[in-house]
Amino acid sequence: RTSSQLGTIFPEQDEPHDCHIVIVGGGTAGWMSAATLKRRVGCRVTVVESDRVPPIGVGEATIPAMVDWIENMGIDEDEFIRRTGATYKLAIRFDDWIEPSHRYWHPFGICGCSIEGVDLIHAWQRGVREGWLPNDSQYTDYSFQKELCDHGCGPRQPGMPSIAENYAFHLDAGKLAVFLREVALAEGVQHRVGDVEDAPLDEHGNIACLCLADGSPLQGNLYVDCTGFASVMIENAMNSPWEDWSEQLICDRAITFRIAGNTSQQDDGAVDVGRRALAPYTISTGMNAGWSWQIPLAENTGCGYVFSSKHISDEAAKSELCALVGADPDMVSAKTVPMRIGMRPRQWIGNCVSIGLSAGFVEPLESTGIFLVQRALDELFECLPPATPLAFHAGHFDHATFNGRMTEVYRQVRDFVLMHYVVSRRRDTPFWIDAATVDQPESLRGLLDEYVSTGRVRLPQRDPTFAEANHHFILSPAGVRAGTHEFGHPGESPAIPGVPAGQYQPVHPSVIFDSIRASHRELCAALPAHD
Ligand code: FAD
Repeated sequence: RTSSQLGTIFPEQDEPHDCHIVIVGGGTAGWMSAATLKRRVGCRVTVVESDRVPPIGVGEATIPAMVDWIENMGIDEDEFIRRTGATYKLAIRFDDWIEPSHRYWHPFGICGCSIEGVDLIHAWQRGVREGWLPNDSQYTDYSFQKELCDHGCGPRQPGMPSIAENYAFHLDAGKLAVFLREVALAEGVQHRVGDVEDAPLDEHGNIACLCLADGSPLQGNLYVDCTGFASVMIENAMNSPWEDWSEQLICDRAITFRIAGNTSQQDDGAVDVGRRALAPYTISTGMNAGWSWQIPLAENTGCGYVFSSKHISDEAAKSELCALVGADPDMVSAKTVPMRIGMRPRQWIGNCVSIGLSAGFVEPLESTGIFLVQRALDELFECLPPATPLAFHAGHFDHATFNGRMTEVYRQVRDFVLMHYVVSRRRDTPFWIDAATVDQPESLRGLLDEYVSTGRVRLPQRDPTFAEANHHFILSPAGVRAGTHEFGHPGESPAIPGVPAGQYQPVHPSVIFDSIRASHRELCAALPAHD
């Protein structure tokens, strides 16, 4: 059917010259897109949501970009925390990833300070090599966020801004969905309940209108596919190809459940379940056939196991996760979620753009799902013409820039997540043998080679999702040493950033390291417990 055949059944638009963005899907991506586009583009926005297909209802950890979104939307952080059952997230603790009983940390932010513009890791590596830092010294000993995690502190005093520049939230996905919907409706977004059954194209290959199950049509200038893995418009109508990454990231399923109270794995490996100090970090544990998360929420703990169905059954995965978190398998009701790993290099075709799971998905090891929605919205905004009736037309949309940028963003996330597996030394189960020895994409192989030989991290030119320090956090504990980055002469003390040479007495670099820790301890002592 073409638009001219359908033309007669369209009701007249209320305001014929108005620009109209129609978003299909009422999950996190749909409501977040609606609120953001309404505020930033300012035109009419409608969300159509099925009451037959529930949203995926997972997605409990975020990265610091979420803080920016809240601020840009004019939302009060305290209210956000209360409404979404959130806690602060300052780091991820990785247990049993490099080998059984090994532990490392991926905190937000950088460690200490850079020295002469060079990341602290280079001075730290030198200190360990030359013996002026202790042998058991860790790079993350100089992270403020890690210091806060060690002491169970939150990043701010009530009523004050955060002292830690980089922080994020753990949140309750169900509560987030309700909150986002309220925010969007308050912005003036319109809401319709209904199943989209068809999206016929016009003679230019654009979506002419949406046909809802109740027989009514819905017409817009731009259609945003937020229908999750169903990909109702971008796949079924626009035929946008899917680039499959399941050969590289081999986990394809997850089970999730909540347990009362908060869990914490103690140093002796024992699990303690009960109401105890609320950890300001996520725990990610390497399992027999994948990895698990434990996410402390205000009221309970979110647990999940991301696994490869070739290596473990749903039932066995549930038992293994229950054993880890000290839950009774007969008492928990677990949800199983199939995962499709990959992305669409053409996320925007004609007047249809996909955002969220319909655009792509990388397993949630670094909590990037909600961030990728935000990033797509930022890029989309830059590639849209002004919302005037003449300009707001598929012919004026900058698809190529948007698709190129989003492809780069998704591939960096894929490489960064895959890096956790390829540097693992675990070979104790068939899963780890398979997951750690996959064929690496050329981009990741190149990044690792360059890192080892020059100490540089090859980053995307535009707003890298993971910066240099993030790579050091994963590579250093795995024993991958950054190539030497020469600054000064060997044995000479590095300059203090911002202070011209000659205006200070050179100090031994160990003094800088000591002062970083001392100042972190002092700041930490002034902050309240995370609870
Ligand atoms: P969905 O939530 O699936 O929503 C799809 C919507 O489309 C629903 O409202 C449905 O009703 C509607 N729909 C479908 N078909 C139709 C139709 N024909 N007509 C009308 N409406 C329709 N992200 C993070 O940031 N952090 C995490 O820790 C994290 N953990 C995750 C763990 C797992 C196991 C998985 C799978 C994902 C995780 N994510 C995480 C990703 C995150 O869940 C998603 O990015 C986010 O929820 C967005 O989902 P969505 O809105 O695209 O899709």
